[in-house]
Amino acid sequence: MSITKEQVFEQAKQQKLWAGQLTVADPQSEATLDNHTPIDNTLIGQIAAGTAEDVDAAVKAARDGFENGTWRRLAPSERKTIMQRWCALMHEHAEELAALDCVDAGKPITECLNTDIPATIETFEWYAEAADKVFGKVAPTGSAALGLIIQEPIGVVGAVLPWNFPAQMYAWKVAPALMMGNSVIVKPAALTSLSAYRLTELAYEAGVPKEALQLICGTGKTIGAAIGRHMDIDMVSFTGSIEVGRLFLQYSAQSNLKEIVLECGGKSPQVIFDDAVLDDAVINDILSAAFWNMSENCSCGSRLLVHSSQKESLLNKLKEGLKGWKVGSPYDVETAIGPMIEKAHFEKVCHYLETAKAEGATLVAGGKIHTNLGSGWYIEPTIFDNVTPDMTLFKEEVFGPLLAVTSFETDEEAIALANDTEFGLAASFYTQNIKRAYKVGSAIKAGTVSINGFSEGDITTPFGGYKQSGFGGRDNGLEALSQYTQTKTIWLVN
Ligand code: NAD
Repeated sequence: MSITKEQVFEQAKQQKLWAGQLTVADPQSEATLDNHTPIDNTLIGQIAAGTAEDVDAAVKAARDGFENGTWRRLAPSERKTIMQRWCALMHEHAEELAALDCVDAGKPITECLNTDIPATIETFEWYAEAADKVFGKVAPTGSAALGLIIQEPIGVVGAVLPWNFPAQMYAWKVAPALMMGNSVIVKPAALTSLSAYRLTELAYEAGVPKEALQLICGTGKTIGAAIGRHMDIDMVSFTGSIEVGRLFLQYSAQSNLKEIVLECGGKSPQVIFDDAVLDDAVINDILSAAFWNMSENCSCGSRLLVHSSQKESLLNKLKEGLKGWKVGSPYDVETAIGPMIEKAHFEKVCHYLETAKAEGATLVAGGKIHTNLGSGWYIEPTIFDNVTPDMTLFKEEVFGPLLAVTSFETDEEAIALANDTEFGLAASFYTQNIKRAYKVGSAIKAGTVSINGFSEGDITTPFGGYKQSGFGGRDNGLEALSQYTQTKTIWLVN
């Protein structure tokens, strides 16, 4: 039965929200972890604290299911029908799913209703439709043999998720992996397991077999590591911090050389050239790139590189535009900026704020902490000018609403500044000059470059990073499907 957002918020108040193991075997432990909402730091319920034994049992069931072929051997069109039933259930429960992400991650309810959940459902719908349109190849062998090149599901896939887009990241990993016939074990972030739990329950209602899709809640150190080190998991798809991303490469090297795909954040530039048109739509795009989702966004445009001739006017317009960005409770439909995800992260962002001041950057907007709001982990969208490449704010991913402004004089300088980072996830730039657009678009080292607007692309386009922003593949688009398969050649000798 679908429930309203008010009912979810009431359940949160009564501390009744729950995310447990959804596995073929019974959970090995009854231990739980408290779940607090970042909105006001009150207890909203519990999540199960899974164990490494839960992972072992889930992998065994996933492997058995994969070998028996209960899901894998279904025709792609049959998997599609089940996925479409699942999507219909998601539509039915959209408000509930949105409210779960709102209360669990402190994301503004308007964003959850209008962006996160529609994008989640769209991802599943898109991959459901794509699944029966993936063809193999025939090699040009001549008449002596027939060389078939086919894509087979890779096997048992671990999906390790971050907390910043709980439902959406679930969709990005689970939809393509499942559609290609794999058995998937999901580990949501411990801070945000609620929507993943509910989505998985709906999958079973739609007819996805349990051995094809299991969910294990718990900490990264226990569940994430057990997945990473498991000898019978064939692949892990991970989104999160670069530090934990590196651990997954180590886990793989130390275990069975499982495939690893990483999406690990960024320090993305937004470049404003001297001929950029700074109309309201552009100002809104620049602010959205910088502050959308409290800047807890891996493709956040956190470095604003601006031609010196445009700087004063741009800063004035950004300050004006920020007046529309209300900091407040995520329950309020007017709110654009909610709290940081948790206290430790809030303190980290505050530290970056103080460091920026101490290193000599100029505070030009925001900077206030709203200690009067709920948990008190609310930080205003903040702009620092005169940020130089040696400053911490220029170099490190903050994952909080601090925008670094740096000016430049020439195109070459702009490109060098844009590329002066260990990351390469996204970039956007603004110009009216087509030659410059081509030159700069080619020169910037990033997985997604948008010109005259901010976009991460959509479900049709691959998403992932150059340099240390990623490893091993791409989310989204048809590209994501191939990373959940392996290539087999069948050589039929005449
Ligand atoms: P994280 O890397 O700590 O966690 C991501 C996932 O990995 C979670 O499911 C977590 O439980 C798991 N994990 C944690 N420690 C693990 C370990 N030792 N072994 C195996 N798995 C482990 O990221 P986070 O706590 O969600 O956020 C921390 C930082 O990561 C943020 O401040 C931000 O800089 C970055 N981040 C990036 C993205 C992104 O999209 N690129 C998303 C979220 C967070």
